[in-house]
Amino acid sequence: MTCDQCGLCCLHYHGTYWARTSDLLRWHDEGRKDILQYVAVSGPDGSRTTAIMLPRTELEKIEHVSAWTDPESGREILPCPFLRKVSTNRYLCSIHATKSQTCRRFVHEDWEMFIAYRERFFSP
Ligand code: SF4
Repeated sequence: MTCDQCGLCCLHYHGTYWARTSDLLRWHDEGRKDILQYVAVSGPDGSRTTAIMLPRTELEKIEHVSAWTDPESGREILPCPFLRKVSTNRYLCSIHATKSQTCRRFVHEDWEMFIAYRERFFSP
């Protein structure tokens, strides 16, 4: 499958895990606070904060992230905050080099689902 950069999957698709433990640890090790700020977590006292505030040992306990959240409001964000529109029908991922395993494997793992989804959004 050749990606035509339509942005469909990043604009509309959800219902999966945006990121997993290995992604969170990589972003921590890479100093990617710009990404981790979109991961809402519960702090030791139960209050909501972002993954920026957690040490690596706490990030290891998070199995997956099921939604990006606005760091200011704490509300879920869709489409993905890392998607960039570069022309009328063309989109790019602004964190392509370190995007999550889910994004890397997306079509390969969910090909039939993706085709059904694409037909739904692109049908007249
Ligand atoms: S991280 Fe990149 S590839 Fe993944 S949903 Fe966001 S824009 Fe798309």
